[in-house]
Amino acid sequence: MRPQIEKIVIDPQCSGNRLPFEIAEKLRIDPVFMSKDDLVAFVEHNPGTDIFKTAKKILFFTENKGRFLKKCPGSKGVICCNYYTINSVTGCPYDCSYCILQHYIENNPFITVFLNREKAVEEIKEFLKINDRIRVGTGELADSLALDHLLNETGFFISEIVEAGLEKKVQFEFKTKSVETERLLEIRKKYPGADIIAGFSVNIPGFQKDEEPGTASIEARIKAAFELQKTGIPVAIHFDPVVMIENNLDKYISLAETIFSSLDCSQIAWISMGGFRHTLSLTQTIVERFPDSSLLRGEMFPSDSDNKLRYLASVRRVYYAALIKKIAEYFNGVPPLYMCMEKPFMWDDIEMKPQPPVF
Ligand code: SF4
Repeated sequence: MRPQIEKIVIDPQCSGNRLPFEIAEKLRIDPVFMSKDDLVAFVEHNPGTDIFKTAKKILFFTENKGRFLKKCPGSKGVICCNYYTINSVTGCPYDCSYCILQHYIENNPFITVFLNREKAVEEIKEFLKINDRIRVGTGELADSLALDHLLNETGFFISEIVEAGLEKKVQFEFKTKSVETERLLEIRKKYPGADIIAGFSVNIPGFQKDEEPGTASIEARIKAAFELQKTGIPVAIHFDPVVMIENNLDKYISLAETIFSSLDCSQIAWISMGGFRHTLSLTQTIVERFPDSSLLRGEMFPSDSDNKLRYLASVRRVYYAALIKKIAEYFNGVPPLYMCMEKPFMWDDIEMKPQPPVF
């Protein structure tokens, strides 16, 4: 089921842009005009039973006065994969228990859509004046495809890149927990030379059901990934967050078996693994909003470099090594794998080398 949007709010300074009106018409909603500050105050005074759930149904259209293109912030003391992000949307209609956005954007929990997204393309062009290539995606502060049926970010970015003649230099990843892939299939037909990757975050099915409300089932994601592969769109698989508690290891191994026996492994661009990690303040949010979450069951320890809590290194080692061993069976021993937000000693411990398609 598609996420429910109940309110369209337009920054009065952007009333000349057609997109919010077209979306409002499609959803049969009368748009209202409010500045960001007024909307923040409105949501604070009308929080409903859960301010996050209420605000996730609001689309706010405005302009981005800052930069769109940023290097993925990574985390202090971890190995970085040189990924760039475009934050053309911030906020997400899904409500994952572990979502860091609960913490980052608690002062504006609604979904903000920046209308001046051509500026993001200009920033990519500038970047490519001094760099040969860029690996970029929109899924850092939003789900790349959850609202694509309304925002058409896929169509916008890919058409701009192709029209600028940059399709050999830009690899664009759309990372999602949805199965909103129809437009990607159309774009593939229209722009066969574009370098598009469809990234799917995956987890064990029980975890998806309990902790990723609103998202597509894992089975549906695998099916959507396979359909994309059939048209020549490579996919990326992100095991994130890997929740290292109780008997989950067997479940992750079985998940890996299901995924890699269902997909065409020659059409997998990369695979990432990231153990669950979080800030102390996110724990409090999870306790309040998701008191039954399995994320509260494991023992976690603060890191010396980035202050994030992680599972004990010995536990992480066991999970990563077992997953790599299993995944390698499907790739003649050399899967295009990397770890997200992991420390150099962990890469050494499990003898992992940076992967050419990624780094
Ligand atoms: S899909 Fe991603 S951005 Fe959306 S709620 Fe879940 S973790 Fe957050």
